[in-house]
Amino acid sequence: MPYCPECGAEVYASAEICPSCGTRLKKPHTELPRNAHGDLVTGEKSEVLAVILGFFIIGAGLMYAGRVGLGIFHLVLSILLFWTILVPLALWIYGMLKGYELCKENNMLWLQYLEENR
Ligand SMILES: [Zn+2]
Repeated sequence: MPYCPECGAEVYASAEICPSCGTRLKKPHTELPRNAHGDLVTGEKSEVLAVILGFFIIGAGLMYAGRVGLGIFHLVLSILLFWTILVPLALWIYGMLKGYELCKENNMLWLQYLEENR
């Protein structure tokens, strides 16, 4: 069992506060981080999966990365403007790149959070 750094009493490894002197042994958990869009970051997201989803369905990578509304908008826009070829093509490429970037940003924030709350 570990010891309290203040009074030297033995404490349980899971103890947040030393039962003998009341010293806080662990930092209180900080709030979950938020990304640039203000959405909560709750775990890791696979960049590869975002690209794969975006490859097969326009907007799906964005939806997976948390931008559900934008993903649906891109999908609908691509269906309506499929005859232009250029619009769906641009949204397809954008969706894969952006999905990747959003997941990467998400994971950076998540790792930072884990690091702060070890
Ligand atoms: Zn103590």
